[in-house]
Amino acid sequence: MNKYIERVLKDVYAKNADQKEFLQAVEEVLTTLDPVIKENKAYEENAILERLVQPERTIIFRVPWVDDTGKVRVNRGYRIQFNSAIGPYKGGLRFDPSVNLSVLKFLAFEQIFKNSLTTLPMGGGKGGSDFNPKQSPHTPGKRCSDGEVMRFCQSFMTSLYKYIGADTDVPAGDMNVGGREIGYLFGQYKRLANEWTGVLTGKGLSFGGSLIRPEATGYGDVYFAENMLAKRGENFGGKRCVISGSGNVATYAAEKLLQLGAKVLTLSDRSGAIYVENGITEKMLKDIMTLKNVTRGELSDFAKKTKSVKFFAKANSWKLADKVDCAFPCARQNELDGKDAEFLVKHGCTLVGEGANMPSTPEAVEIFQKAKIMYSPGKASNAGGVATSGLEMSQNSERISWTREQVDSRLKDIMKAIHDNAWEAAAKYGKKGNYVAGANIAGFTKVADAMVAQGVV
Ligand code: NAP
Repeated sequence: MNKYIERVLKDVYAKNADQKEFLQAVEEVLTTLDPVIKENKAYEENAILERLVQPERTIIFRVPWVDDTGKVRVNRGYRIQFNSAIGPYKGGLRFDPSVNLSVLKFLAFEQIFKNSLTTLPMGGGKGGSDFNPKQSPHTPGKRCSDGEVMRFCQSFMTSLYKYIGADTDVPAGDMNVGGREIGYLFGQYKRLANEWTGVLTGKGLSFGGSLIRPEATGYGDVYFAENMLAKRGENFGGKRCVISGSGNVATYAAEKLLQLGAKVLTLSDRSGAIYVENGITEKMLKDIMTLKNVTRGELSDFAKKTKSVKFFAKANSWKLADKVDCAFPCARQNELDGKDAEFLVKHGCTLVGEGANMPSTPEAVEIFQKAKIMYSPGKASNAGGVATSGLEMSQNSERISWTREQVDSRLKDIMKAIHDNAWEAAAKYGKKGNYVAGANIAGFTKVADAMVAQGVV
């Protein structure tokens, strides 16, 4: 490894020893940058790597709110404004008990390269809270009520609004932050700032949202995979696909796969995984979307009511099918380990398209790369969501709305551009077919060049 990269990595490890997800993400990127660091001395002379691994600003705040019983609750809120070299900070908000500084720093760091790859002018950021909307603080087994979620969102935004803005930082949704939460957050921002701007993306259609934004990450993941398959002269017709998760990304990836003639065999959630031998039908998928987004239930409830569905409590999606062609991890980080990867490769899997951020452990990635299967890292293949957020920002600035077809066609073009960009960058540096190296190099050089041009800031 290049001495400069080695030195910076050592320093990052020393300064962030307790942040394992952040360290994993930094190591994954830096260890692929050898050829560009060697080629361009300006990066070391301008301390680009040292600056790149340090967030421009980290905001941590208290979020007090009142539950339905009148009791005061306190959560912790965060916003990591990691890098604004190529545009305003952009990245989602995650509400989950697993949220901490390490998780958000890894997500914000990944977002820098992802946003750069989209070809749109967006910097990297991420935020959220350890608030758990899926568990009421006073009634075990019950979720927070809409009123509790609203009061939490209002308090969260009361602290956050000072630091964000349409030209400064534009948050969006992520895990457990969907249309309902974005609506409450937007309402409170508007009230406090006394202005109507596109300060959040993923908004409802009646107040500045973009068509196709909800679908964009899942659809984009599948469009990216279509481009990978096309390189080998294949398409999705009849392919047996396993998906993890049953949230926003997973369900829209499933929807697009069904439209393209693939079979979707699995979905999962915190309760377990479902397996359908003949493939999940459009009707089943519609029912699952209603269950997850409207009645807010679990896949275990769905399996009880549907005969052809097998349910595996607390299982993930990876070892349920004997014959697999493609896998789409769409739930959370480090959800697919070395053993899962071995199983998938052994049972025929030739394509892994990450919808989630960093879902495969380093051991799993190594197995995919050794087996020379098509493997796309989340920062490239799930960039369709933030790209469409970028399109929502453009529509808000121009005060216009594009049609579904216009947005979908732009999304397809962007996913092809990201694919081709990563493919070409990898090929240029002797790593043909290695989308990890290609995506990191292509995402990095744009940001690094902008940082060099902007001086020491
Ligand atoms: P979501 O709608 O909240 O769905 C997350 C899914 O993962 C749910 O089915 C959830 O199960 C499952 N899950 C979460 N933690 C789990 C655990 N510990 N064990 C088992 N299952 C678990 O979130 P999303 O927006 O689809 O995001 C999924 C992933 O994609 C995340 O990595 C996110 O960062 C990434 N991503 C999202 C977007 C976007 O536009 N939304 C864009 C780029 C990347 P339950 O339903 O039981 O909670």
